[in-house]
Amino acid sequence: MSFIISVVLSSLFINGCKSESVQQKQIYKIGGIFSNVDHGIAFEIAAFSANNKYPWSEIELVPSTHNVKYHDALKAYSTTCDLLRDGLAGLFGPSSDFSSTYIQSICDAKEIPHIETHCNFNIKRNDSLVNLHPHPKSLSNLFLDIVEAYGWQKIVIMYDNDDSLLGVRTLLGLNKKEKIVVIKQLETQDSGNFRPALTTIKATGNTEFVLACSMDIMEDVLKQLQQVGMMTDIYSYIITNLDVQTLDLSPYQYAGTNITLARIIDPEDTEVMQLAESIYKFRKTRDASIEDEVLFPSWKMRYETALIADAVQLFYETLYDLTIDKKKSITAIPLSCHEDSSWNEGYTITNSMKTKTVKGLTGLVKFDIEGFRTDFNVDIMELSQGGLINVGQWNSLRRSLNTYRPEKISTRIGADDLFNRTFTVIITISQPYGMLTETTTQLVGNDRFEGFCIDVIRELSSILGFNYTFVIQDDGANGVFNPTTGQWNGMIREVMEGRADLAITDLTVTSERETAVDFTMPFMNLGISILYKKPEPVPPSLFMFVSPFSAMVWIMLGVSYFIVSICIFIMGRLAPAEWQNPYPCVEEPEFLVNQFSIRNALWFTMGALMQQGSELAPISISTRAASGVWWLFVLIMVSSYTANLAAFLTVETLMTSFKDIEELASQNEIKFGAKKGGATANYFRDSNLSIYQKVWSYMVHHPELMVDTNEEGVRRVENENYAFLMESTTIEYVTERHCSLAQVGGLLDDKGYAIAMKKESPYRNGLSKAVLQMQERGILTGLKIKWWKEKRGGGNCAAKSEGSEATPLDLQNVGGVFLVLTIGTILGIFGSFAELAWHIHQKCKKERKPFKEKFLNEMRFFLKFKQQVKEVEAESSSENSNPAALDILRK
Ligand code: GLU
Repeated sequence: MSFIISVVLSSLFINGCKSESVQQKQIYKIGGIFSNVDHGIAFEIAAFSANNKYPWSEIELVPSTHNVKYHDALKAYSTTCDLLRDGLAGLFGPSSDFSSTYIQSICDAKEIPHIETHCNFNIKRNDSLVNLHPHPKSLSNLFLDIVEAYGWQKIVIMYDNDDSLLGVRTLLGLNKKEKIVVIKQLETQDSGNFRPALTTIKATGNTEFVLACSMDIMEDVLKQLQQVGMMTDIYSYIITNLDVQTLDLSPYQYAGTNITLARIIDPEDTEVMQLAESIYKFRKTRDASIEDEVLFPSWKMRYETALIADAVQLFYETLYDLTIDKKKSITAIPLSCHEDSSWNEGYTITNSMKTKTVKGLTGLVKFDIEGFRTDFNVDIMELSQGGLINVGQWNSLRRSLNTYRPEKISTRIGADDLFNRTFTVIITISQPYGMLTETTTQLVGNDRFEGFCIDVIRELSSILGFNYTFVIQDDGANGVFNPTTGQWNGMIREVMEGRADLAITDLTVTSERETAVDFTMPFMNLGISILYKKPEPVPPSLFMFVSPFSAMVWIMLGVSYFIVSICIFIMGRLAPAEWQNPYPCVEEPEFLVNQFSIRNALWFTMGALMQQGSELAPISISTRAASGVWWLFVLIMVSSYTANLAAFLTVETLMTSFKDIEELASQNEIKFGAKKGGATANYFRDSNLSIYQKVWSYMVHHPELMVDTNEEGVRRVENENYAFLMESTTIEYVTERHCSLAQVGGLLDDKGYAIAMKKESPYRNGLSKAVLQMQERGILTGLKIKWWKEKRGGGNCAAKSEGSEATPLDLQNVGGVFLVLTIGTILGIFGSFAELAWHIHQKCKKERKPFKEKFLNEMRFFLKFKQQVKEVEAESSSENSNPAALDILRK
């Protein structure tokens, strides 16, 4: 490196020394006509470098550099004539096609060696011309060989002008090999905007491209390819321009796009780096404002600059060989453009150059018998995450492509690293998953959309660092498999065919879809349910008062009333205390009467039940106990009745047309349907349950009831007598905003929404992990609240939520009180028996009579239910009694 720098410095500053050494050497003036400053600098550096490389040589090249504008053929012509006048050994340049032909004709006429380095499409075998640029046809073969090695079947050539297309012309021959080659010109109406053309190309669905563009537009084209979403891992490009490595390709190296390019100079080669550094030093001497520490990086050096250096080296070595072989010096002579003179030795130099081989910066510089460059090597490079990597080499002579790419692209780019990738994300316009942003200003790009799924992608991108472009699925179809055509439609198809990298919407994970695409973890869980109009309030009924108790309770209440009345009647007859003296003023009555006849017992319990009372008052312990239990029962029943009646009077009872899918399926009045080709319809199609099969057959026979979008389904529910089978999350969203609608019944199944991507996608794990993270951090819940309850009319129906419904009290509610009553009554009966037994026992003790006989007498009397009058001394003899008095009492 220091060697070159010293060359540069000596050439610039040590003129005295130079002139001294020149005197012993044969001077050869070489002219350079360039339109690029770097070319001129490289030309001069190469000449001085050659002079110093062979210090013992008698040859000294003296460069004369002229900068001539690209299109200025006249200036190029006059400069050539000026150079010839001073005696010219060789002319380098120009790099312009426009002037090249003029200059070449002069050089042909004057037999001056003419050395070119630009890509010349019209190059023929010219006597005085040596062109170091690989012949366009050779390069075209290179790209043909790469395309064949990659096994591409359908190739789209994107080109900017005729020269670029000519550079890949051999590829067109692939059409004959059962491959499809499509050519697309990158036309631009407004300068530099290739997006419309690229979008049209993208829409064709092709993914393998040969990009043949000049460097003037290359950077813009690459950038715009990224902008239209064509820089993702499904796309492959072969870029034919050998200078593309001089661009900063880092923005594309993470996207996983397979970009292949070719180069003929290695920027890491020491000599290439030295030339780059010397160019920088030269520039610095001319422009002091160039910052010291910024070196001219070798990767920025274009290959034509290196070709110029090689050309000068070739020229020098050819001259050197000739002077040694001929053992005499070759001297250039002054020539005039206007005279018919020429330099005899010129052709010798030209021909010798074509047979000479040198090792230059662009590899082996060697020519075939036609005079075109041959046997040169081209490095095949691929863009990876770590930058450009060499994956092969091609030799122009052998047409051999040795590839040593270690693995397939997907492994090379790192399986699930999504950082800096750009994805095309397909969405549907479906509330609230993906919607057009509500604004009065015109939006472009991703800003045009908002919604739950849009936010999910935004969050995922901030976690994983990928870029994304949203596109819309115009027909709103999520994707269904058509067994007749064997094809998928909707978003699933777009993902399968690579037109979208990710699909997100209310896209349900189903086993059928899993066979076609991969899904992430679900970001939302849901089930199928029914959307229908809210139930209407039932008009108040005339017999509302019976509502507080169920029929069973009413029956039980009636039965209890009769049983308790009969029990009190029995207890009254049994209990001795209930037999009372009808005339209290008669101290020793002959007859006793009992107040609890069957009629009185019924009246007594009724009076208690109606909370009115009666004049009857139980006297014995057992009747009092039983009455107490009855009153407790009545108290609780009446309180319960009153409380529940109040509820029935204040709460509106709603009339539901059906409660669940079974009831819906078994009626004819309400029509129903689901989204066409959606997961809901397919659930019924695939179910084995007879009721769901019935639903499916109804759907099949009523295609007019199936809708294209959820929104259409909701509209039909509102306006027709129609029930819409849809997913619970969407029902939740709808019922938050449409207060007349409600979900009917529970969930029929349990499933989830997830993001779909191509099968075997390396991004699945990364995306799934990020979805889980979002779940754990509550981001998904937050987004759900935002889009369901807050945005776009959320919470509209919250205040109008239904009150609770009043239900009749059933036996379960009041069973306890019936139990207490039963036990109390049974105990009362036993009590009255006990009372009777005790009374008989006392009497028998006093009268010394047997208990059994007395008891049986009492029982016999007890069973005479019609007899309400009891003789006081029934035990003595009924014959002693006054029958007339008894008759009066019985009446
Ligand atoms: N989420 C459904 C799907 O992915 C669409 C809506 C539906 O079928 O209810 O197909």
